[in-house]
Amino acid sequence: MSAYAYFHKEFVPFSEAKLGVMTHCIHYGTAVFEGIRGNWNREQKQIHLFRLKEHFHRLHQGCKVLKIDLPQTIDELCQITIELVEKCGFKEDIYIRPLAYKSTEALGVRLYNLDSDLLIFAIPWGPYLDVDTAKCCISSWRRPDDNVIPPLAKCTGLYINNALAKTEAIENGYDEAIMLTPDGHVSEGSGENIFLVIDDKLVTPAGYNNILIGITRNTVIELAKQELGLTTVERPVDRSELYMAQECFLTGTAAHITPVAEVDHRQIGNGEIGEITGKLQKIYAEVIRGKNPKYLDWCTPVYAK
Ligand code: PMP
Repeated sequence: MSAYAYFHKEFVPFSEAKLGVMTHCIHYGTAVFEGIRGNWNREQKQIHLFRLKEHFHRLHQGCKVLKIDLPQTIDELCQITIELVEKCGFKEDIYIRPLAYKSTEALGVRLYNLDSDLLIFAIPWGPYLDVDTAKCCISSWRRPDDNVIPPLAKCTGLYINNALAKTEAIENGYDEAIMLTPDGHVSEGSGENIFLVIDDKLVTPAGYNNILIGITRNTVIELAKQELGLTTVERPVDRSELYMAQECFLTGTAAHITPVAEVDHRQIGNGEIGEITGKLQKIYAEVIRGKNPKYLDWCTPVYAK
Protein backbone atom coordinates (compact mmCIF):
# COMPACT_ATOMS: atom_id res chain seq x y z
CA MET A 1 0.00 0.00 0.00
CA SER A 2 1.04 3.56 -0.59
CA ALA A 3 2.64 5.26 2.42
CA TYR A 4 1.38 8.63 1.20
CA ALA A 5 -1.39 10.01 -0.94
CA TYR A 6 -1.70 13.36 -2.64
CA PHE A 7 -4.87 14.74 -1.11
CA HIS A 8 -6.24 18.29 -0.69
CA LYS A 9 -3.13 19.65 -2.47
CA GLU A 10 -0.58 18.04 -0.16
CA PHE A 11 1.13 14.75 0.57
CA VAL A 12 -0.51 13.10 3.57
CA PRO A 13 -0.14 9.65 5.16
CA PHE A 14 -2.32 7.28 3.12
CA SER A 15 -4.58 6.47 6.09
CA GLU A 16 -5.47 10.16 6.45
CA ALA A 17 -6.77 10.54 2.88
CA LYS A 18 -10.51 10.14 3.49
CA LEU A 19 -13.60 11.55 1.77
CA GLY A 20 -16.77 12.70 3.52
CA VAL A 21 -19.88 10.57 3.05
CA MET A 22 -21.74 13.27 1.10
CA THR A 23 -18.97 13.91 -1.42
CA HIS A 24 -20.73 14.35 -4.76
CA CYS A 25 -18.64 11.90 -6.80
CA ILE A 26 -19.45 8.96 -4.51
CA HIS A 27 -23.16 9.29 -5.22
CA TYR A 28 -23.26 10.20 -8.89
CA GLY A 29 -20.02 8.90 -10.42
CA THR A 30 -18.86 12.47 -11.12
CA ALA A 31 -15.13 11.85 -11.29
CA VAL A 32 -12.54 11.17 -13.98
CA PHE A 33 -9.66 8.81 -13.33
CA GLU A 34 -6.47 7.45 -14.81
CA GLY A 35 -4.47 4.30 -14.39
CA ILE A 36 -0.72 4.73 -14.83
CA ARG A 37 1.96 2.09 -14.51
CA GLY A 38 5.29 2.46 -12.80
CA ASN A 39 7.49 -0.40 -14.03
CA TRP A 40 10.36 -1.60 -11.85
CA ASN A 41 13.70 -2.12 -13.58
CA ARG A 42 15.74 -4.38 -11.29
CA GLU A 43 19.14 -3.78 -12.93
CA GLN A 44 18.78 -0.01 -12.83
CA LYS A 45 16.97 -0.03 -9.44
CA GLN A 46 14.59 2.37 -11.08
CA ILE A 47 10.85 2.83 -11.56
CA HIS A 48 9.86 4.06 -15.02
CA LEU A 49 6.50 5.81 -15.18
CA PHE A 50 5.11 4.96 -18.59
CA ARG A 51 3.68 7.70 -20.86
CA LEU A 52 2.89 9.90 -17.86
CA LYS A 53 2.10 13.03 -19.91
CA GLU A 54 -0.30 11.18 -22.19
CA HIS A 55 -2.24 9.90 -19.17
CA PHE A 56 -2.56 13.37 -17.69
CA HIS A 57 -3.53 14.78 -21.08
CA ARG A 58 -6.39 12.25 -21.18
CA LEU A 59 -7.34 13.19 -17.59
CA HIS A 60 -7.52 16.86 -18.63
CA GLN A 61 -9.71 15.96 -21.61
CA GLY A 62 -12.06 13.95 -19.41
CA CYS A 63 -12.31 16.87 -16.98
CA LYS A 64 -13.64 19.03 -19.82
CA VAL A 65 -16.48 16.56 -20.37
CA LEU A 66 -17.41 16.50 -16.67
CA LYS A 67 -16.80 20.25 -16.15
CA ILE A 68 -14.16 19.49 -13.55
CA ASP A 69 -11.87 22.41 -12.97
CA LEU A 70 -8.39 20.93 -12.67
CA PRO A 71 -5.99 23.79 -11.88
CA GLN A 72 -2.77 21.75 -12.23
CA THR A 73 -1.11 21.71 -15.64
CA ILE A 74 -0.02 18.42 -17.19
CA ASP A 75 3.60 19.15 -16.18
CA GLU A 76 2.55 19.90 -12.61
CA LEU A 77 0.56 16.66 -12.44
CA CYS A 78 3.63 14.76 -13.66
CA GLN A 79 5.79 16.42 -11.01
CA ILE A 80 3.33 15.63 -8.21
CA THR A 81 3.22 11.98 -9.30
CA ILE A 82 7.00 11.64 -9.47
CA GLU A 83 7.30 13.16 -5.99
CA LEU A 84 4.59 10.88 -4.59
CA VAL A 85 6.20 7.69 -5.92
CA GLU A 86 9.63 8.84 -4.74
CA LYS A 87 8.30 9.54 -1.24
CA CYS A 88 6.67 6.08 -1.11
CA GLY A 89 9.96 4.46 -2.21
CA PHE A 90 8.47 1.51 -4.11
CA LYS A 91 10.83 -1.16 -5.46
CA GLU A 92 8.33 -3.16 -7.55
CA ASP A 93 5.75 -2.72 -10.27
CA ILE A 94 3.15 -0.19 -9.24
CA TYR A 95 -0.13 1.24 -10.43
CA ILE A 96 -0.96 4.90 -9.91
CA ARG A 97 -4.50 6.15 -9.61
CA PRO A 98 -5.18 9.87 -10.12
CA LEU A 99 -8.82 10.88 -9.58
CA ALA A 100 -10.23 14.32 -10.40
CA TYR A 101 -13.59 14.54 -8.67
CA LYS A 102 -16.54 16.70 -7.76
CA SER A 103 -15.64 17.34 -4.16
CA THR A 104 -18.55 19.40 -2.79
CA GLU A 105 -20.48 17.62 -0.07
CA ALA A 106 -23.89 18.16 -1.63
CA LEU A 107 -26.66 16.10 -3.15
CA GLY A 108 -28.32 16.78 -6.50
CA VAL A 109 -27.70 15.32 -9.95
CA ARG A 110 -25.68 17.91 -11.86
CA LEU A 111 -22.21 18.93 -12.99
CA TYR A 112 -22.53 22.69 -12.25
CA ASN A 113 -22.07 24.65 -8.99
CA LEU A 114 -19.71 22.06 -7.57
CA ASP A 115 -16.08 22.31 -6.48
CA SER A 116 -13.49 19.89 -7.78
CA ASP A 117 -10.40 18.36 -6.27
CA LEU A 118 -7.68 15.90 -7.19
CA LEU A 119 -6.27 12.91 -5.37
CA ILE A 120 -3.49 10.53 -6.36
CA PHE A 121 -2.29 7.34 -4.76
CA ALA A 122 -0.12 4.42 -5.85
CA ILE A 123 -0.17 0.72 -4.96
CA PRO A 124 2.05 -2.25 -5.80
CA TRP A 125 0.27 -4.15 -8.58
CA GLY A 126 1.36 -7.10 -10.69
CA PRO A 127 -0.41 -8.49 -13.77
CA TYR A 128 -4.09 -7.52 -13.98
CA LEU A 129 -5.64 -10.36 -15.96
CA ASP A 130 -3.10 -12.78 -14.48
CA VAL A 131 -3.48 -15.41 -17.22
CA ASP A 132 -1.02 -16.26 -20.02
CA THR A 133 -3.90 -16.34 -22.50
CA ALA A 134 -7.45 -15.11 -21.93
CA LYS A 135 -10.74 -16.88 -22.58
CA CYS A 136 -13.24 -14.24 -23.61
CA CYS A 137 -16.96 -14.02 -24.26
CA ILE A 138 -19.06 -11.47 -26.07
CA SER A 139 -20.87 -9.63 -23.33
CA SER A 140 -24.61 -9.24 -23.21
CA TRP A 141 -23.83 -5.70 -22.02
CA ARG A 142 -23.27 -3.16 -24.81
CA ARG A 143 -20.77 -0.30 -24.74
CA PRO A 144 -22.72 2.98 -24.51
CA ASP A 145 -22.74 5.50 -27.34
CA ASP A 146 -21.03 8.85 -26.91
CA ASN A 147 -24.45 10.48 -26.49
CA VAL A 148 -25.33 8.12 -23.61
CA ILE A 149 -22.12 8.29 -21.51
CA PRO A 150 -19.01 9.35 -23.45
CA PRO A 151 -16.62 6.35 -23.46
CA LEU A 152 -13.79 8.64 -24.63
CA ALA A 153 -13.60 10.01 -21.08
CA LYS A 154 -12.59 7.76 -18.17
CA CYS A 155 -15.56 8.81 -16.00
CA THR A 156 -16.03 6.70 -12.88
CA GLY A 157 -19.82 6.45 -13.39
CA LEU A 158 -19.30 4.86 -16.80
CA TYR A 159 -17.47 1.93 -15.23
CA ILE A 160 -20.70 0.35 -13.98
CA ASN A 161 -21.00 -0.77 -17.61
CA ASN A 162 -17.55 -2.37 -17.44
CA ALA A 163 -18.21 -3.92 -14.03
CA LEU A 164 -21.45 -5.54 -15.25
CA ALA A 165 -19.66 -6.99 -18.28
CA LYS A 166 -16.64 -8.22 -16.31
CA THR A 167 -18.79 -9.82 -13.60
CA GLU A 168 -20.96 -11.63 -16.12
CA ALA A 169 -17.82 -12.96 -17.86
CA ILE A 170 -16.15 -14.20 -14.65
CA GLU A 171 -19.34 -15.75 -13.30
CA ASN A 172 -19.72 -17.65 -16.57
CA GLY A 173 -16.17 -18.99 -16.37
CA TYR A 174 -14.37 -16.61 -18.75
CA ASP A 175 -11.42 -14.34 -18.02
CA GLU A 176 -12.67 -11.22 -19.77
CA ALA A 177 -15.67 -9.73 -21.56
CA ILE A 178 -15.63 -8.18 -25.02
CA MET A 179 -18.35 -5.61 -25.44
CA LEU A 180 -20.11 -4.69 -28.67
CA THR A 181 -21.42 -1.27 -29.64
CA PRO A 182 -25.21 -0.77 -29.67
CA ASP A 183 -25.10 -1.38 -33.46
CA GLY A 184 -23.33 -4.71 -32.92
CA HIS A 185 -19.70 -3.98 -33.77
CA VAL A 186 -16.80 -5.01 -31.59
CA SER A 187 -15.83 -2.27 -29.15
CA GLU A 188 -13.41 -3.29 -26.36
CA GLY A 189 -12.79 -5.36 -23.25
CA SER A 190 -13.90 -4.22 -19.79
CA GLY A 191 -10.51 -2.59 -19.21
CA GLU A 192 -8.64 -3.14 -22.46
CA ASN A 193 -8.68 -2.35 -26.15
CA ILE A 194 -8.71 -5.23 -28.60
CA PHE A 195 -6.57 -6.06 -31.65
CA LEU A 196 -6.94 -8.74 -34.30
CA VAL A 197 -4.39 -10.11 -36.72
CA ILE A 198 -6.04 -10.69 -40.11
CA ASP A 199 -3.95 -11.58 -43.16
CA ASP A 200 -0.81 -10.61 -41.23
CA LYS A 201 -2.19 -7.09 -40.63
CA LEU A 202 -3.32 -5.51 -37.38
CA VAL A 203 -6.94 -4.46 -37.11
CA THR A 204 -8.53 -2.64 -34.18
CA PRO A 205 -11.91 -0.95 -33.61
CA ALA A 206 -11.89 2.77 -34.45
CA GLY A 207 -12.40 5.70 -32.07
CA TYR A 208 -16.05 5.95 -33.18
CA ASN A 209 -16.70 2.37 -32.02
CA ASN A 210 -17.28 3.62 -28.45
CA ILE A 211 -13.81 2.76 -27.18
CA LEU A 212 -11.51 4.50 -24.79
CA ILE A 213 -8.55 5.62 -26.88
CA GLY A 214 -6.01 3.54 -25.01
CA ILE A 215 -2.47 4.68 -24.48
CA THR A 216 -1.31 1.07 -24.76
CA ARG A 217 -3.33 0.84 -28.00
CA ASN A 218 -1.37 3.80 -29.34
CA THR A 219 1.91 2.30 -28.06
CA VAL A 220 1.18 -1.00 -29.84
CA ILE A 221 0.27 0.78 -33.09
CA GLU A 222 3.59 2.68 -32.93
CA LEU A 223 5.70 -0.35 -32.00
CA ALA A 224 4.08 -2.52 -34.67
CA LYS A 225 4.90 0.14 -37.27
CA GLN A 226 8.43 0.99 -36.10
CA GLU A 227 9.64 -2.45 -35.05
CA LEU A 228 7.67 -4.90 -37.20
CA GLY A 229 6.76 -2.74 -40.21
CA LEU A 230 3.07 -3.51 -39.63
CA THR A 231 0.36 -0.94 -40.18
CA THR A 232 -2.81 -1.01 -38.12
CA VAL A 233 -6.22 -0.56 -39.71
CA GLU A 234 -8.70 1.23 -37.44
CA ARG A 235 -12.18 0.24 -38.58
CA PRO A 236 -15.46 -1.32 -37.45
CA VAL A 237 -14.93 -4.99 -36.61
CA ASP A 238 -17.65 -7.64 -36.83
CA ARG A 239 -18.14 -10.22 -34.09
CA SER A 240 -17.49 -13.15 -36.43
CA GLU A 241 -14.15 -11.62 -37.47
CA LEU A 242 -12.99 -12.39 -33.93
CA TYR A 243 -13.80 -16.07 -34.44
CA MET A 244 -11.88 -16.11 -37.73
CA ALA A 245 -8.87 -14.01 -36.71
CA GLN A 246 -5.33 -15.41 -37.00
CA GLU A 247 -4.48 -13.85 -33.65
CA CYS A 248 -6.24 -11.65 -31.11
CA PHE A 249 -4.97 -9.75 -28.09
CA LEU A 250 -6.04 -7.21 -25.47
CA THR A 251 -4.09 -4.09 -24.55
CA GLY A 252 -4.22 -1.90 -21.47
CA THR A 253 -2.06 -0.20 -18.89
CA ALA A 254 -3.09 -2.79 -16.30
CA ALA A 255 -3.36 -5.80 -18.65
CA HIS A 256 -0.30 -4.96 -20.82
CA ILE A 257 -0.61 -7.17 -23.95
CA THR A 258 -2.70 -10.25 -23.16
CA PRO A 259 -3.25 -12.86 -25.89
CA VAL A 260 -6.82 -14.07 -26.41
CA ALA A 261 -7.00 -17.86 -26.74
CA GLU A 262 -10.75 -18.21 -27.19
CA VAL A 263 -13.82 -16.12 -27.96
CA ASP A 264 -17.24 -17.66 -27.27
CA HIS A 265 -15.63 -21.15 -27.15
CA ARG A 266 -14.00 -20.70 -30.58
CA GLN A 267 -10.26 -21.20 -30.46
CA ILE A 268 -8.21 -18.35 -31.94
CA GLY A 269 -5.29 -19.64 -34.03
CA ASN A 270 -3.87 -22.69 -32.24
CA GLY A 271 -5.05 -21.42 -28.85
CA GLU A 272 -1.55 -20.32 -27.87
CA ILE A 273 0.06 -16.90 -28.08
CA GLY A 274 0.35 -15.94 -31.78
CA GLU A 275 3.59 -15.03 -33.54
CA ILE A 276 2.91 -11.30 -33.95
CA THR A 277 1.38 -11.02 -30.47
CA GLY A 278 4.46 -12.70 -29.01
CA LYS A 279 6.84 -10.33 -30.76
CA LEU A 280 4.85 -7.27 -29.66
CA GLN A 281 4.63 -8.53 -26.09
CA LYS A 282 8.40 -8.95 -25.92
CA ILE A 283 9.15 -5.52 -27.38
CA TYR A 284 6.53 -3.88 -25.14
CA ALA A 285 7.93 -5.52 -21.96
CA GLU A 286 11.37 -4.00 -22.68
CA VAL A 287 10.04 -0.58 -23.67
CA ILE A 288 7.93 -0.03 -20.51
CA ARG A 289 10.89 -0.81 -18.25
CA GLY A 290 13.15 1.71 -19.94
CA LYS A 291 15.28 -1.02 -21.55
CA ASN A 292 14.94 0.17 -25.14
CA PRO A 293 16.89 3.40 -25.74
CA LYS A 294 14.70 4.28 -28.74
CA TYR A 295 11.66 4.76 -26.56
CA LEU A 296 13.07 6.43 -23.46
CA ASP A 297 10.95 9.51 -24.22
CA TRP A 298 7.96 7.45 -23.08
CA CYS A 299 9.58 6.64 -19.71
CA THR A 300 9.93 8.93 -16.71
CA PRO A 301 12.47 7.61 -14.18
CA VAL A 302 11.50 8.40 -10.59
CA TYR A 303 14.67 7.94 -8.56
CA ALA A 304 17.82 10.05 -8.94
CA LYS A 305 20.64 8.05 -10.56
N1 PMP B 1 -10.64 0.52 -22.43
C1 PMP B 1 -11.09 0.69 -21.18
C2 PMP B 1 -12.54 0.66 -20.93
C3 PMP B 1 -10.18 0.89 -20.14
O1 PMP B 1 -10.61 1.06 -18.88
C4 PMP B 1 -8.79 0.88 -20.40
C5 PMP B 1 -7.80 1.06 -19.29
N2 PMP B 1 -7.49 2.41 -19.06
C6 PMP B 1 -8.38 0.70 -21.73
C7 PMP B 1 -9.33 0.53 -22.72
C8 PMP B 1 -6.93 0.72 -22.11
O2 PMP B 1 -6.44 2.02 -22.00
P1 PMP B 1 -4.90 2.28 -21.64
O3 PMP B 1 -4.11 1.51 -22.62
O4 PMP B 1 -4.74 3.74 -21.80
O5 PMP B 1 -4.71 1.83 -20.24
